[in-house]
Amino acid sequence: MKTRWILWTACVIFTVSCGNAQVNVQKNDSMATSSEKPGNFEVQKTEAEWKAVLTPDRYQVLREKGTERPFSGELLFNEEKGVYTCGACGEALFTSDMKFDSHCGWPSFDREIEGKVIKKPDYSHGMVRTEILCAKCGSHLGHIFDDGPTETGMRYCVNSLSLDFEKKTDAQQGTKP
Ligand SMILES: [Zn+2]
Repeated sequence: MKTRWILWTACVIFTVSCGNAQVNVQKNDSMATSSEKPGNFEVQKTEAEWKAVLTPDRYQVLREKGTERPFSGELLFNEEKGVYTCGACGEALFTSDMKFDSHCGWPSFDREIEGKVIKKPDYSHGMVRTEILCAKCGSHLGHIFDDGPTETGMRYCVNSLSLDFEKKTDAQQGTKP
């Protein structure tokens, strides 16, 4: 009788723990595609707060990891000198010197202002890609690829909606003596 009781208990524990494991996997999956969690970033806002400050288009790209239509971005053909900042928190991410024409339909850069961009594996849509996020607020910028034509070999493919542009003269950038 005692053995039976132990077996039954073991069986229940096994079933319950398997059930939990299943739930945890599903939870992790949904967390990977959700941007509900503010995460460990310097700029902390709830999704409701982001929604209140961003346009719907920008919210969809920056916070829900959307992608704007190729060749639709305002900054795609921008050739002015200046700084590209995060469309969500305003942090400087790229400069005009880092931008190149990749013909891919999105603003492209061959490097970042050091430490301003976070890279994260992205397995969505059946592809293996590397997502790039603003290091200050965790907002989605785009993806990075290693097929760049410049000496860095990198192509930061960024949604125009994820960026703002601050025009600066050479003197303001401090590149002139
Ligand atoms: Zn940001």
